[in-house]
Formats: sequence, C-alpha cells, structure tokens
Amino acid sequence: MSRRIIGLIDCNNFFASCEKVFRPDLADSPLVVLSNNDGCVISRSAEAKKLGIPMGIPLFRIRNEIDRYNIRVFSCNFALYGDLSKRIMRTLQEFSPCIEQYSIDEAFFDLTSMKNVTDYEEYGFKIKNHILKTIGIPVSVAFAPTKTLAKLGNYAAKKYPKTGGVVNLSDPARQNRLLKISPLEDVWGVGRQYREKLDRLNIKTAADLADYDPQILRRRFGVNLERTASELNGELCFDMNENPPLRKQIMHSSTLGQPTSSFNSIKESVCNHTVAAAESMRREGQLAGMIAVFFRTNSFADSRDYYGASLAQKFIYPTDDTRILLRSAVNLLKQIWRDHYYYSKAGVILSDLNENNGIQLDLFNRHEEDPRAKNLMNLMDRLNSREQQIFFLGQGISRGWKANKDYKSPSYTTRWSDILKVK
Ligand SMILES: [Mg+2]
Repeated sequence: MSRRIIGLIDCNNFFASCEKVFRPDLADSPLVVLSNNDGCVISRSAEAKKLGIPMGIPLFRIRNEIDRYNIRVFSCNFALYGDLSKRIMRTLQEFSPCIEQYSIDEAFFDLTSMKNVTDYEEYGFKIKNHILKTIGIPVSVAFAPTKTLAKLGNYAAKKYPKTGGVVNLSDPARQNRLLKISPLEDVWGVGRQYREKLDRLNIKTAADLADYDPQILRRRFGVNLERTASELNGELCFDMNENPPLRKQIMHSSTLGQPTSSFNSIKESVCNHTVAAAESMRREGQLAGMIAVFFRTNSFADSRDYYGASLAQKFIYPTDDTRILLRSAVNLLKQIWRDHYYYSKAGVILSDLNENNGIQLDLFNRHEEDPRAKNLMNLMDRLNSREQQIFFLGQGISRGWKANKDYKSPSYTTRWSDILKVK
C-alpha cells in the first residue's frame, strides 16, 4: 500500500480572526474574545499575543492594558464562529475527497488518493490562500504520514514564521528534526497526567517518546500512548475518524452575572448547562453514564457565607436524552439545595462517556431505545444549531441567570437584522 498523506488545517486565533472578518477597520488592532459571562480571555489576535496578554486571564486583570494599548474586547459570539467554521469545512471539500472535522476550527483531510498532488507545500499554500481570500480567516496547514505528525507540523507552522504557515512533514529527515525540538506538551494525545511520569523516565521531547521502548510504554501508560509513539515514527495508528481518546467528561458551567439565592435561578442555570452539555455530547456521538450537578457561593466569601455542593447520579442505561438528563439534574439539585446563601457559580458534568453505537443491551434488558426520543433530540439540535429557537421549560424564560455579554458583535451571518450594511 502506498504511503498515506494526511493534511491538517487549523485556523489561527480562530475566534479573534472571526471577529476581524467583519471589522476590516480592526485588521491590525490587538483584539481579545471573552468566555461566557465576559469572564476570561479565550482567544487573542496576533497583536494581543505580542502585547503579552495571556490566555485565560480574567478581564478585570487587563483593564490597564486595554486602555493603554486600545485593545478591542468582544464577548463570544458562537453563532458567528459556527457559521464561519461551516464555510471553511465546505471550502476544504474542494481540496480533498475525505475530510474529518476535528474541532470547530480544525480538520484532517486525506490526500492519499490524490495522485495529481505531488508538491504538498505548494498545495498547502493554495488551500491557505484560497480560504483567506474567500472567507477571510488565516489558517495553518501541515502534511504528514500520520495525524500525530500532522498535528506537530501544524504547531510548527504557527510557531515558526519562516514556514509561512505551511509545513510538509512527508520527509522522515524533516520529521526527525522537528521531533528533537518539540516538547512533549506539543504532542497530541499526551495528557498532562502522563507528562510528569514521562519526565521521570527522561522522556522530555517528542523524539524521546518516539525512541522509547514501545512495550514499556504500553505496559506503563496503555495502548494509546504506545500508538502515539508509533505515529511519531510515521506509522499510522489513528486513521481518519479514529482519534486518541482525549475527553472523558463534558463540563458546562458558568459564573453568574449576579449572585443569587433563588432556587429557580440556579435551577434554570443548571438546566441550561445540561442542555448545552447534552448537545455537545450528541455531536460527538456519545452517551453519558453519569451526571453530576454542582453549585457554590463565591469562593472568596467568609466561611460563614460559603456553601458549595455537588452530587452525582449513575445511569443504568447510558443516555443522550436531554429530558432524562434534565430530570436527573433537577433531582440532584433539590437534594443538595440550601436556602439563604448567595450562589455565584453552577454547572453540570456528564461523565462515564460511552460511544453511541446503538447501545449493547443484554438479553434481559427491557430498556429499549425510544426512536421518538432520538428524533426529538435530532430535531432540537437542528433547530438550535444556529441560535436557540426552542428550549425546555426548565431552562426558564426570564433568563435572570443569563451571562453578561456586553461586548458581543452582531450575528452578521445568522440573523437578518444583524446583516452587514454597506453604505
Ligand atoms: Mg486553532
């Protein structure tokens, strides 16, 4: 079989870049995008990075820098990002017959069958320039015989300006050079939980991991880390639509705009997080084996004023049905609720995630998946994919819990009233 060639495109500073698409006047301005509730910085333009604004920093801690450097601040606008993401994925289809979207702003694509493409670097620049010209988003592109190498190549494309944003790792000598200068945290699938132990084995770079005894890796860290090491050696282990497991739980939580002692407000917040977590879980084709609910007062409160609690429930049958998840979430909340405290944070964790492959049920199992439930969830996901259109009553209509979004850009691409006007 011929050698595989897998490409990876990854958008640069995606959310910040999306905000700039419709604001050409800000093309060279430092710009940051904030998390839900305008809490922390979750995306920075290149100019903001250069000013040393760290990822994840709370907004209130960069007030001075914002004034001094005239940094533009935006609340997150996921309808806009989702729409631009879809356009990028659609455009990528013109360049490869086989695409796997991996996250909102990155996708693998297989070029193995495209025999007419021989100069990958040139092809990478063609893709990059086309997406920039037609959609306005800058991307980095890498090519390699495995996904793990493509990921590493994409980091390099971003890290080293001399590459021009395109890296071709089809040549083993080039792979080796990059492995030697890549720290472990740049390697896809090497979780934080492994890094310390690997460090004790003197595995510090991607090259160290690639050269290590695969049997010891498997014995001490499991088959996935062994596969990652093989992939670094150019041996394909994660084919298209197969990836190392990264996420074992989905958490949705927020800091409330205003602390509240109202059960209904916290209930609405928890219900909304449950709905959102269930949606992202269904997008990944997974089922939850367990749900946990938590909430707490401000952690800086006096011990007298502090209360926080969490409670989990296991499901006999893993589920992705929002109605079941909501019922459990509200039940859990009722069990740990206490009046007279002012709560400022609430959330939901879905864990024990299973692949949704029709669920294996045993012979005595009387639980049957209700096809109507599946249709209903699909319908809701479709209706709500751009903007919330329908919701469960438990999510509330007052939206008193709703996060602050003081700096949100218009929904240029998904709401008629926000469409860009040309004067
Ligand atoms: Mg990105």
